[in-house]
Amino acid sequence: MSSSAAVSRKPKTPKPSRVRVPEKFADAEKLYGIENWGKGFFSVSDDGNLLVHPTRESHRFVDLKGVIDDVALRGISTPVVVRFPQILDATVKELNEAFLRAIKEYEYDGAFRGVFPIKVNQKKVVVREIIQAGRKYGYGLEAGSKPELLAALSQDLGPDCLITTNGYKDEAFIKLALNGLRMGKTVVLILEKVSELERILDVAKRRGVTPLIGMRSKLYARGSGKWAKSGGEAAKFGLTTTEMLDAVEILRHRKMLDSLVMIHFHIGSQITDIRKVKQAIKEAGRVYAKLYRSGVEVKFLNLGGGLGVDYDGSKTAFDSSMNYTVQEYANDIVYTIKSICDEEKVPVPTLVTESGRAITAYHSVLVTNVLDVADRIEQGRTVKLDGDENHVVRELYDVWQGVTAKTMRESYHDALQYKEELFTLFNLGYVSLEDRSKGEILYWNICERIRRHLHTLKDVPEEFEQLEVMLADKYVMNFSVFQSLPDVWAIDQLFPILPIHRLRERPGEVATLADITCDSDGKIEKFIDLRDIKEALPLHLFHKGTPYYIGFCLVGAYQDVLGDLHNLFGEAHEVLASVDEEGRTRIQDVLPGESCERVLSYMNYDRDEMLDGIWRQLRRATERKKVKEPEAKAIAKDFEQVLSQYTYLED
Ligand SMILES: *Cc1c(COP(=O)(O)O)cnc(C)c1O
Repeated sequence: MSSSAAVSRKPKTPKPSRVRVPEKFADAEKLYGIENWGKGFFSVSDDGNLLVHPTRESHRFVDLKGVIDDVALRGISTPVVVRFPQILDATVKELNEAFLRAIKEYEYDGAFRGVFPIKVNQKKVVVREIIQAGRKYGYGLEAGSKPELLAALSQDLGPDCLITTNGYKDEAFIKLALNGLRMGKTVVLILEKVSELERILDVAKRRGVTPLIGMRSKLYARGSGKWAKSGGEAAKFGLTTTEMLDAVEILRHRKMLDSLVMIHFHIGSQITDIRKVKQAIKEAGRVYAKLYRSGVEVKFLNLGGGLGVDYDGSKTAFDSSMNYTVQEYANDIVYTIKSICDEEKVPVPTLVTESGRAITAYHSVLVTNVLDVADRIEQGRTVKLDGDENHVVRELYDVWQGVTAKTMRESYHDALQYKEELFTLFNLGYVSLEDRSKGEILYWNICERIRRHLHTLKDVPEEFEQLEVMLADKYVMNFSVFQSLPDVWAIDQLFPILPIHRLRERPGEVATLADITCDSDGKIEKFIDLRDIKEALPLHLFHKGTPYYIGFCLVGAYQDVLGDLHNLFGEAHEVLASVDEEGRTRIQDVLPGESCERVLSYMNYDRDEMLDGIWRQLRRATERKKVKEPEAKAIAKDFEQVLSQYTYLED
């Protein structure tokens, strides 16, 4: 994180964000920040369950825990992705209405025609729902590859709705787009490179179709946050000014300037700072206006994606937040483009955006269960000295007895020193395993005692900041970070994470999360916080045998489709839920996740071949009288059963 925009960045606090919850806890909404990031889609019921309000009306809600319990009866166990198609309706509406309002307010003499970039979530239910919700606004789709374009063209989109195409294109891609045009759809081929132009024109000429072409412009302006490098001069995509002028010349020469209908740019995702948005629009607006004045009457100005999501609810330019609203975004775009066009005396363009994250992030929640708590057993033990211990153990014992609020700093330093000495002596052979264990127990008990005294300090010294995190439990969760929350691993993305029940009960534990892959990166140790990043999460005591469910919210953008098969953990089960007019929960659909057999097939394992292999080995074992015939049959049956089961743990 660079520390440029000091005003909008979260203030760095000298004190650590205290993760342990005070004894008199009342408010889960505040503790987990639901009131800040929830955007009206989430709340907590009186009995402590997380409620989802897909229509943002307080009297219509889905009780998430109720959904999980319900589908459990149908044999669908967590991890489960619960989707709320009605949330997609709400976000599509919000974006479109925001632009309509801005257009009215600033008397903008043009229209808004947004498109949804399929790459953000290609799931059929998601794309279908967005199209339906956007139909009355002429909302379209953006495709970046042949399969995405196939998906887009197969949808029932009329000529009012744009289909834009980005990314590199081969002849088949271009043909697909031109066929879309012939079917009466408005498909725009956006150039990433000038060299694509000749090819498009050639293919179009052979087919007797007049193509619709856009140019992706490489802006000088950049985004902010993690994706700042997607924009600017060194960006991977886009045409420089010289290249744009070249493209215009080629078209002019071929008398096909009419085909050039769109100017496009995309400065990166999750733009956290509205000033970056404004800079980019100003530049793009000028590019449009200057081109127009030179006789290139471009109709659409496509401002790409980048509209942010306030994952931590802090309303700042922090990486996981944004310092503006959807309405401000629309207002700034409409107002700025209008001002520029007025000044340059050119007609205003039809505005296009390609918002993906802001449309889809809210619509799904990943729910999974805690399997186990890996706590430090040393913390629950005490040590009795029998007099035969090594002197270092006795020293640690004395330190432990002497910890008070006044001496804790000194105690801590002593403990660190004796711990070092303990290991050194152990390596030299002077300390027994029993003594080493006693020393370790004492060390952790000292840390725990100090932690309890920390609240008495006004300013917590830096060396103690990590203590709470060091002493945190590890809650082992039934899921794979790589499959279900890839951005946590890849780019340290933060998501709101909280229990979906027991929310009126004080969460007295402090934990980090670990997944069930054998990869040490399969963990979550960064959590949202209003002021900073929390390194541990307050959670409830886990009772083995009683399910404890954690929800990962706002995971509807990118996570569904970037996931991988690390350790061959497959896609999670999916449940589509909604509320009806009376506010009753409807489970619209249950889509089972991937089975072992399915994920194995991606690696070219064939079910029958695997079973044959097992049988061959069992036959050999029975011949050698290592296994009896009925036993062999039972083993083969077990094997077959697991093949068709969920890849995650089921009990
Ligand atoms: C990924 C992408 C988008 C979507 O960006 P969001 O930040 O998710 O809105 C839009 N346009 C293009 C060209 C993209 O590559």
